[in-house]
Amino acid sequence: MDEHRSISGYYRYKSVLNDIISHEQYIELREYALQKGISLSDFKEFTGDIRDIKEIIDKIEIVSQDFPRIVDKRHHVILGLHYEDSEEFAGTESNKITLNGIFYNDTVITAAYEEKMSQGYFVYGTSWKDIIYHELGHVVSNIYRVNSLEIAMNLMHTKLRAEVAEYVAQNVSLYAARNYESILSGRMEFDGSEIIAECFCAYYGGTENIFAESFVKECMKFCKEVES
Ligand SMILES: [Zn+2]
Repeated sequence: MDEHRSISGYYRYKSVLNDIISHEQYIELREYALQKGISLSDFKEFTGDIRDIKEIIDKIEIVSQDFPRIVDKRHHVILGLHYEDSEEFAGTESNKITLNGIFYNDTVITAAYEEKMSQGYFVYGTSWKDIIYHELGHVVSNIYRVNSLEIAMNLMHTKLRAEVAEYVAQNVSLYAARNYESILSGRMEFDGSEIIAECFCAYYGGTENIFAESFVKECMKFCKEVES
């Protein structure tokens, strides 16, 4: 395969990555995902351990028990892969979650995640294996059209965005209040879009964060109503 045929960007970083998985491993992974209603995209060029991806697929299945649309025929999650020299472990657009393959090496991703967690960016007590829950928060938000800010405001009995941002920064994670600094300087409005993501990470990651638990329970109620 030549460089031009690399979809994921693997060939740009080939020299620092492990070898890509075998065709058999790819088929095994694809089947594993399909059985659970999830599609894979660009995983032929995965260089990590397929057991990690199977674990991610199992976690999508866990969340789907509360939010069934994420694995139904029409909306189901597409798990994608790219290689990008950035600090982002993963990203979500609509129902597609794209993992950054650069990190998918146990030691690299563990250290990178723990560093950010120790600085308060991610929910204390979570690990890189919970990143998928963060991204699933975005998927649920996109599919069911959840308004995170409104849910947080209702839970806190406030109409003030700044109050919500400060609260989630202290009680969930700095990332939950992402862009808040720009808001303080008046350059941007806090839209609360990372609240659902970080609350999913805290709740499904088993951290017993009280605010995250109430938040996710509210999301469940809201999404049940959408479905009925
Ligand atoms: Zn996010």
